[in-house]
Amino acid sequence: MAFETETPDLVADLNGRLRNASPQEILREAINMYGDQLALVSSFGAESAVLLHMLAQIDRDTPVLFLDTGQLFGQTLDYRKQLAAKLGLTDVRDLRPSFADLATGDPNADLYKTDTDACCHIRKVLPLDRAIEGFGAWITGRKRFHGGDRLRLAVVEKADGKVKFNPLANWTKADLDAYAAEHDLPPHPLVAMGYPSVGCWPCTSPVEDGQDVRAGRWAGSDKTECGIHVERAQAPVEVGGDI
Ligand code: SF4
Repeated sequence: MAFETETPDLVADLNGRLRNASPQEILREAINMYGDQLALVSSFGAESAVLLHMLAQIDRDTPVLFLDTGQLFGQTLDYRKQLAAKLGLTDVRDLRPSFADLATGDPNADLYKTDTDACCHIRKVLPLDRAIEGFGAWITGRKRFHGGDRLRLAVVEKADGKVKFNPLANWTKADLDAYAAEHDLPPHPLVAMGYPSVGCWPCTSPVEDGQDVRAGRWAGSDKTECGIHVERAQAPVEVGGDI
């Protein structure tokens, strides 16, 4: 959906204004601009409570999209329910892979063993592409301190025709911890077991002290992202594409 406010310079203008803004200011700007055409995408993972709490304080009715891949830890599913209830979020939507895609591409639920990109495509990229189609912009919880491609993360981006707001891009781990402590936010239960980043159980490992936050994600492979933040050519969504 195109908005009157969208110009070729929109993202540059927003970045100029919001580069040093607080996460709450960025969230308010996103909500003011996009209203019900805005969604927040959350993994309900190790650091998710901070951004979800901020959103709930500003507008708890904003849709929150949660990718239930079918391969998540049971602790994450429990945490998603408990945290959403505690924060009073009214519109958390569980996105699941389609039966048809699973039947065709991953009938034994073991595709992650041979092709993690294809598995992420079926279980994350396609469900999110379908869900996000009806929105004009979305909010992510990515931060620069996660490293890799995220080191250059802008506060506002445009990808696949959608504006993406990254309110926590500038925040450090210490900022997150201080906010969580100040607001008494419940931690994801796996954090205390050595998981500073939590994804699907087959592709997430605990990390050693001093390792990067995301070192336990697809450990031992070159993969660092699931594909939902990789810009894709505009094309009909179908199983089997590359991400
Ligand atoms: S993170 Fe692993 S299990 Fe989850 S969708 Fe990607 S490859 Fe599949």
